[in-house]
Amino acid sequence: MLTVFITGGAGYIGSHVVKELLHQGHQPIVFDNLQTGHRKAVKNVPVIEGDLSDQKILKETFQYYPIKAVMHFAADSLVGESVQNPEKYFNNNVKNSMNLIEIMEEMNVKKIVFSSSAAVYGEPKEIPISEKHPCVPTNPYGETKWIFEKVLQAFHDAQKLNFISLRYFNAAGADPEGDLGEDHSPETHLIPLLIKAALDGTSVPVYGTDYHTPDGTCIRDYIHVTDLSHAHILALTQLEKENASGIYNLGNGNGYSVREVIETVKKVTGKKVTAIDSPRRPGDPARLVASSTKIKEELGWVPNYPHLETIVETAWKWHKKHPNGYGHQKEK
Ligand code: UDP
Repeated sequence: MLTVFITGGAGYIGSHVVKELLHQGHQPIVFDNLQTGHRKAVKNVPVIEGDLSDQKILKETFQYYPIKAVMHFAADSLVGESVQNPEKYFNNNVKNSMNLIEIMEEMNVKKIVFSSSAAVYGEPKEIPISEKHPCVPTNPYGETKWIFEKVLQAFHDAQKLNFISLRYFNAAGADPEGDLGEDHSPETHLIPLLIKAALDGTSVPVYGTDYHTPDGTCIRDYIHVTDLSHAHILALTQLEKENASGIYNLGNGNGYSVREVIETVKKVTGKKVTAIDSPRRPGDPARLVASSTKIKEELGWVPNYPHLETIVETAWKWHKKHPNGYGHQKEK
């Protein structure tokens, strides 16, 4: 049993990982400023409402709990917003993350699993993208994730910590048991927006129809949030076992265009979905598809929900039951 400090543990991915950690017998300590996270998404665990900019509360928490490892989810994560407001991204994702590394060093905590992103690669030179692909981010969000990976590598080289950085492709879907799901405000992600459109008749913009892809829309690799969560447990186990660090992609290796995702949502929901062709969203690469061979081979990761249809089905189930997210639950 490990006591694990989870920044952003009340968020979409963090809360799914907290559930998995509990399931595996670990003790998660959630640290979240609850700006985008939801208290209701984390049950039966300590939740400290705090911000990574607050060194005092960080120190108090590390002094109070016997923390042995860290999982660092807390971040701003919207590509478009990062282009408009880079200051917010460098401050939160880099500067505030440094406070976390500093307290870890002070308190002699040497293991961290970091939420990185496919956005570190920028416009890919080859598909699928392996971890050896050069990192040339095309937006400030990707830049902040890349910078922090380099911070972790430098601290590792100085023998101050071991890290596993997980480069997520497009996290999607919801806890198959129906307890947790995706609830952002405002929502900007494709799958929840399409499901909302299926539920309430709103329309969804298709950002860019002139990309060099077969149907002109962007291609992404969608990965189920529960499969992502399993990868975090494997990463933690790996950090326990060895004095090793590593960087791993997490995707399914299948690319779907925006139009294909729209068709899947229509099929799964059986509803009409209105999509409106719109200009490109700044900072979006045309194609992001992962090679996850490394994590499969080295950590034994096996996705249980690799098909887009299953991913959408789990999301649909959650959104139908929680049309207002964590705010209000529909009676059965
Ligand atoms: N997208 C879109 N309309 C939307 C939201 C997203 O066409 O309202 C596209 C977006 O350009 C990208 C893909 O859907 O190609 C996935 O975007 P999302 O915001 O879900 O995730 P990201 O790739 O930014 O992490």
